[in-house]
Amino acid sequence: MQKLRLFTPGPTMVSPESMLAMAQPLDHHRTAGFRDDLKECVELLKYVYQTSTTPYVITGSGTAAMEAAMLGCCKPDAKTLVCHAGKFAERWRDILARFNLPYVEFQKDYGHGFKGEEILAKLKEHGDIKAVIFVHSETSTAAVSDAQGIAAACREKGALCLVDGITSIGAIPFKMDEWGIDAAVTGSQKAMMLPPGLGLVALSDRAWEVIDSHQAPTYYNDIKAYRKSMDKFDTPYTPNNQMVTGLKFTLKQIKAEGIENIWSRTAKLAKATRAAVSALGMKVFATDPVDSVTAIEIPKGVDGGKWRKDLRAKYGIHCAGGQGHIKDTIIRLNHMGYVDEVDTVGAIAALEWTLAAQGYKFESGAGTGAFSRVIQGA
Ligand SMILES: *Cc1c(COP(=O)(O)O)cnc(C)c1O
Repeated sequence: MQKLRLFTPGPTMVSPESMLAMAQPLDHHRTAGFRDDLKECVELLKYVYQTSTTPYVITGSGTAAMEAAMLGCCKPDAKTLVCHAGKFAERWRDILARFNLPYVEFQKDYGHGFKGEEILAKLKEHGDIKAVIFVHSETSTAAVSDAQGIAAACREKGALCLVDGITSIGAIPFKMDEWGIDAAVTGSQKAMMLPPGLGLVALSDRAWEVIDSHQAPTYYNDIKAYRKSMDKFDTPYTPNNQMVTGLKFTLKQIKAEGIENIWSRTAKLAKATRAAVSALGMKVFATDPVDSVTAIEIPKGVDGGKWRKDLRAKYGIHCAGGQGHIKDTIIRLNHMGYVDEVDTVGAIAALEWTLAAQGYKFESGAGTGAFSRVIQGA
């Protein structure tokens, strides 16, 4: 017997209750039932995004939603500043390149985040930048950027602010309207606690002005088509209606727990995990660590591939390794969504047991002890 415990930062664990909410006879999507579901999702998503604008639901993963936002907001006659210090932000640069959209790169080493004043300086240096793209929570390195400060810099300089919030929205503080964000994207399989399959995107009035001024070079991801259908709480193409039913279910759970409570739960798990990591004589990889996921540097003498394999084979704990050039350097543990302190202390214990099996030296229980002390507020 083995219980599978997904500790990857996407897909994250999905509750049996959510799976059951979706285990219904398949209905048609051009029905009052689907429209009611979508309408309720939109209202609940406004709460999660902290916005009064309409969030759209695209059948596709987070990348589809990001592509929709980018192709609408980044025009061929305007420059975009793309900030990257990790695998996901590099993807957004690659999309700009693929569509021959002009861009300026702001690159940092993996593990770093971006700050508002740095973006302001870049916007002053390049007066022709019309949009800024950054990843709020760079999942590949577990680093955070100052979304509020970056949005403020964009507002000051009149550039659109496009945020990959795929592992921040619903996990760490995110206030679309208050901060002045123009495009905010996430996906179903991270903090929304669902299987993969839905991309979510909300756009400000400023963003819509740009979107309406040209034809985006895409058919499926043309966000204008989604807006047109949304008048009747419909979608332009066949939606994953089973997942929309699931989304309604998990968004209601989020609303019931309260978004601020979710933010503090996530932050506490991250803080306790970081304490455990240092108590075990290991290091957190990121210089600017985010709370939605922790990246742990693999200690010398430990084989990271074997470590992850043992965790899954012996304890059903599936952790992520790294991506890109840090593939074999880190191991990542998720704190988003359907995961609590009991799950996480178990994961820390399993980290200890599998480390010990490789001959790594530490005081047994040091990690779980440090974790517990943070959770108990000692
Ligand atoms: C998971 C993730 C993505 C990619 O989303 P998909 O749903 O796999 O397309 C992009 N950015 C970040 C920060 C992510 O965590």
